[in-house]
Amino acid sequence: MRELFIQVVYLAASVLFILGLRSLTRPDLARRGMQQAALGMVLAIAGTLVNHTIVDYRWIAAGLVIGAVIGYPMGQWVPMTAMPQRIALSLGFSALAATLVGVAEYYTEMHDGNVVATAKMAALGFEVLLGSITVAGTLVAAGKLQEVLPSKPITFPLQNLANALLFLVILVMFGWLIAHPAAQVLFYSLLGLAFVFGVLLVIPIGGADMPVVVALLNSYSGLAACATGFAIGNVILIVCGALDGASGFILSILMSKAMNRSFSNVLFGAFGSAPAAKGGKTSEGLTVRSISVEDAAIQLAYAQLVIVIPGYGMAVAQAQHAVREMAEQIEKRGGEVKYAIHPVAGRMPGHMNVLLAEANIPYDKLYDMDEINSEFERADIALVIGANDVVNPAARTDPTSPIYGMPILDADKARTIIVMKRSMGAGFAGIENELFYDAKTSMLFGDAKGSLTALVGEIKNV
Ligand code: NDP
Repeated sequence: MRELFIQVVYLAASVLFILGLRSLTRPDLARRGMQQAALGMVLAIAGTLVNHTIVDYRWIAAGLVIGAVIGYPMGQWVPMTAMPQRIALSLGFSALAATLVGVAEYYTEMHDGNVVATAKMAALGFEVLLGSITVAGTLVAAGKLQEVLPSKPITFPLQNLANALLFLVILVMFGWLIAHPAAQVLFYSLLGLAFVFGVLLVIPIGGADMPVVVALLNSYSGLAACATGFAIGNVILIVCGALDGASGFILSILMSKAMNRSFSNVLFGAFGSAPAAKGGKTSEGLTVRSISVEDAAIQLAYAQLVIVIPGYGMAVAQAQHAVREMAEQIEKRGGEVKYAIHPVAGRMPGHMNVLLAEANIPYDKLYDMDEINSEFERADIALVIGANDVVNPAARTDPTSPIYGMPILDADKARTIIVMKRSMGAGFAGIENELFYDAKTSMLFGDAKGSLTALVGEIKNV
């Protein structure tokens, strides 16, 4: 009876996870998707708690308290701008859990003097291997994103060769362990070497590639959880590990395409790290035209089509509500406002969608890069709000630029461009942006929220 209850609850949880993932593909259903996934997780935990193999609930209670003490502040108070590193840390925790389960299972088998079957040893080894790589990789990724570690690629001579050799050694050890499960030294050495490999895998990758790396580590941690499920015979771990692994893998492919990183480069880290932020043109001899709020308001008030390009600066300024108010003023006067969303605008996938949805901007006004790029030519104004790298034409024109080849939003093709930012400072890639020096471009300097609020008042007066 108890077993039937567990399996039914696990099935319901699996269905909720799948529905949750499906809902997350649409901005208007994303909130519901999170609720479905959270409910699925509650069911999965409930099913696990009644498992007959649990003989002592004290450790579980302690874990619940510690988890809540760490998890609640992480969910509640970490700002949206620090979300990528928060996600990296959460992944690190889930990979750590998978690794520890693997270690505990192996330790118990050895302690009880059991002979570990080949299939089980393969699952345990795989789980610990991927888990340990992921724990190390996510810690380095979080450190780079938080800038407590240098976000520039860290390289040393013969790095590619050293990494390849280490990987080979790990694979040989893994194979040996499957053949000789009782070799405990091998098991724990594999754990340690996988951790070192995780560090070496991520340090040569530049900060700009971190989103792809985090998505990939997400898929590793999912696969580690899946292997855990096989090792301990837990259905829900197999299902949600597989879902996590597959969705992380798909996301990392999409992200690497959007950032123009070859996927094999990302997979093998040091075998093709991002170029350092060198090269690119300088601004010497070029002039910048600034515009007042009053003049920008007049242009916006009479525009037929305005394409808003939000970027990381909009998130920093928390200007999404002011963006909606400004758009309402333009629309009241008969103009049309569309939003161009670059897949890596901001600091995490979907960053702009989440912020604009929070401000109740209808999601049918949000356009992906491929849909909107052909419309810039007929736009009266491309209004760039705290975006920089995602509109940098050097990605198209300058082979020496570190972002060369990254698909961008074609803001420079609009009839006029207004850029809202605080200074001539660079974006994430740390390079000049020739769009700011374009004859069609006017710079509206200041904090995005302050400038937008002022614009709303001025457009009303036009
Ligand atoms: P960028 O980081 O290129 O530029 C943001 C701009 O916002 C800066 O130039 C800054 O200029 C301006 N800004 C900052 N604060 C404010 C403010 N309060 N008001 C107005 N402007 C402000 O952002 P993009 O969105 O264009 O590009 C994202 C970059 O981040 C890409 O290089 C991408 O690869 C990378 N990345 C993306 C991730 C993702 O998953 N989306 C994750 C990690 C990195 P100033 O200081 O002059 O105001």
